[in-house]
Amino acid sequence: MEQRKITYAFFSGILECDAGYILEELDQKLSPHGFMVPLDLGAKGSCLIGGNIATCAGGVRLLRYGSMHANVLGLTVILPDEKGTIIKMGNGLRKDNTSIHSHHLFIGSEGQLGVISRCQLLLPPRPTSVNSAFLGIESFEKVTKVLRKAKTELSEILSSFELMDSETLKCLEENDGLKSVLPINPPFAVLIETSGSSKEHDSEKFSTFLESVLESGLAIDGVLAESATEASNFWRLRETAPLSVMKDGYCYKNDISLPLKHFYELTEILRERLGNKVIRVTNYGHVGDGNAHINITSKSFDKDLYKMIYPFLYEWVAEHGGSISAEHGIGRLKRPYLHLGKHPDELLLNQRLKQIFDPRGILNPYKMIDSL
Ligand SMILES: Cc1cc2nc3c(=O)[nH]c(=O)nc-3n(C[C@H](O)[C@H](O)[C@H](O)COP(=O)(O)OP(=O)(O)OC[C@H]3O[C@@H](n4cnc5c(N)ncnc54)[C@H](O)[C@@H]3O)c2cc1C
Repeated sequence: MEQRKITYAFFSGILECDAGYILEELDQKLSPHGFMVPLDLGAKGSCLIGGNIATCAGGVRLLRYGSMHANVLGLTVILPDEKGTIIKMGNGLRKDNTSIHSHHLFIGSEGQLGVISRCQLLLPPRPTSVNSAFLGIESFEKVTKVLRKAKTELSEILSSFELMDSETLKCLEENDGLKSVLPINPPFAVLIETSGSSKEHDSEKFSTFLESVLESGLAIDGVLAESATEASNFWRLRETAPLSVMKDGYCYKNDISLPLKHFYELTEILRERLGNKVIRVTNYGHVGDGNAHINITSKSFDKDLYKMIYPFLYEWVAEHGGSISAEHGIGRLKRPYLHLGKHPDELLLNQRLKQIFDPRGILNPYKMIDSL
């Protein structure tokens, strides 16, 4: 028997549901009503909405709809105190300044402050007109110019701007037999998507933008998806990339944020630093949000290689104004480097909050926040 509960307030575009829904399942439930979950990511078929909130998952549409902080209006959380207090925060209103919006403390808390059991989410209307294009670009500088142009000219309909470098496309072909949709393998490829409600208006806007980037030489080649199947072929490339790199043997995965002027620099530095000790260094990710997934692969785990990568990589990121974890969290892997780029007072504040919610330190110990 179905135990989970879901209620909709379609008039206001708000959903309340149990945290145990799979992201894709929730999205499919909304589809017939003309709404969608604002979050979309490669793990959608297995991750739960509670897990997405606990990790503050980002994904491919953050550019348009914002992070979980922008979309979660309220939470019900079970606290790890002796009574197992159930606390309901927020009340499904878009505007409510009667408290300090305490539910935000649990978004991205990696399950260390309480167990999320229910949530209230904003629901954007499901777009009725979606356009996708795959562009080949010669330099990273030009990628940033195309991004700026897309933000200005596609503005309200721009929903994704994803990057894959040539090494990522090479990896997809070698490890998964997935060929690029472009006849060439350019240094950089970007997947641009628009989502809107007027087919004619959106298509015209998108075509004008594409013509302009091709004519001005910002892009050297481009393919516009003529059908949903073609668009899903574009997305298959991007969504397979995280799994494809793992087929090399061992993958040192990195999920970092960097200011755009430094976004690709580190990839080149790592290639030079690691030389033929690695199979490849790839960079793909949510460039529209300044989020790079730099993946370094080798045949098997190599301790000496690990020492050449870390802490060098994290220190470089912190020194250049970035974050060592853009969307995957700290967990256990990045715990030793947690202090990089963070003021000690902020880390202490986190510990004090953990002490308030979980004085016995029983929820996910040895992860992001140390007990006091
Ligand atoms: C192929 C692939 C692609 C991905 N792409 C992206 C991407 O584009 N963007 C992105 O941000 N992430 C991405 N991820 C990571 C993804 O965000 C997380 O795996 C997912 O959001 C976690 O949800 P989950 O249900 O799997 O949680 P789990 O893996 O089960 O748990 C993750 C953490 O959250 C805690 N947690 C889980 N549920 C709750 C709850 N109800 N209350 C409190 N704490 C809880 C757990 O204790 C754990 O610490 C990707 C992962 C994969 C495998």
